[in-house]
Amino acid sequence: MSKPGEAKKSAPLVDLCMTFDAGHQEPARFAFDPKDPQRPDPSQKMPTKPIDPDEVGKLILEGNSLYASFIGYAKEVAEKLEKKSEGVPEDRTFHVFLNKHQIGTHDSHAIHQEPYAAVLSCIDARVPPELITGQAANDMFAVRTAGNILLERGEARGSLEFILNKYARRPPKEQKPPKGKGEGEPAEETVEEEKPLTAILVLGHTKCGAIDAAYDAVIEEGKDPVLSREQELAKLLRESPNPSLDAIVARLKIVVRVVMKLNPDLAASKEKADIDELKRRICHFNTELNYLDIRHMAEKIGLGAGFKVFFGSYHVEDCVIRRSNLPGKDDTAMIEALDKYLGERSLGSIFESLNQPWSVPDTKAGVKSKDFIFGELLDAMNRDAEAFSKDLVKP
Ligand SMILES: [Zn+2]
Repeated sequence: MSKPGEAKKSAPLVDLCMTFDAGHQEPARFAFDPKDPQRPDPSQKMPTKPIDPDEVGKLILEGNSLYASFIGYAKEVAEKLEKKSEGVPEDRTFHVFLNKHQIGTHDSHAIHQEPYAAVLSCIDARVPPELITGQAANDMFAVRTAGNILLERGEARGSLEFILNKYARRPPKEQKPPKGKGEGEPAEETVEEEKPLTAILVLGHTKCGAIDAAYDAVIEEGKDPVLSREQELAKLLRESPNPSLDAIVARLKIVVRVVMKLNPDLAASKEKADIDELKRRICHFNTELNYLDIRHMAEKIGLGAGFKVFFGSYHVEDCVIRRSNLPGKDDTAMIEALDKYLGERSLGSIFESLNQPWSVPDTKAGVKSKDFIFGELLDAMNRDAEAFSKDLVKP
């Protein structure tokens, strides 16, 4: 039997801790040393009241950096032990410091629900959004769907609409002058209760099983005779034991086809490395398309400059969120190209059509079929293929 000291030396502990420092009740969230009185204290703007959306974005990035460092350090320890290499690292603890907002100390001692962020992410078991972004209870609403998409009129879309309508901060409204006052008098600003939620993150990830399924379906369909939309609809209704799952895959297939069209060499290749690279690009494109969908939802609800929509792709290989528009990041070339293409046209009409899982072409009623929209997107991307393709190459 080994002594405790010996066991500790051969197997250092790497901890990820939630810590409440009672002597420092509103601490910085991710500062390394809890005993350091000089550590930064951003809690004056911490979530007991709405905080600036860019501050929310920074908290998410900081939290992800902490989690990625924790996993990175734990991996380093494990590998050194496995290879019996020299210089086994020491014990180390990574802290997420909680404040009163996250533990609840008033009235009933229950936490009053006021998260400052929302996230739309995938159901993937390796991507729990709160954990990988260093958030605690009461920080974040999480809506999770396969492939981080929202179908039209589904429960997930409804849930997100509920969150944004009930909790998202709105711009101050101008009030009409009260009765008896002249029209020339200045309007008063309504003092409304400030809502806590100021940002949403659309979070995709690499190695996505839903994207694998859509990719496989596209490859499989390549072997079958091409069906018309009517035939495809009839086939689905008649034969599918999983119509809801098929609706998700159908939506993702659009994305797969667009990216394959933009990357013909990768699409034709049978090499694993090429297929992996193609899927990585599909993941990015899918995330950014869903970002546009949510941005449109926020605009429709009337959320203004005090609310921001972010996107990012979580790399399961090293736990880092990359390719995003979070503060300090600027991977928006594709979004700008899509924006340019969409111009004055309603984003909503595009997405409403994209999200109809099996809309039948009906040009008389002015309803655009999914294929038609897909064709439009492809045409635009082909016209500006260089911009789209160049941007997809970025990690
Ligand atoms: Zn996934």
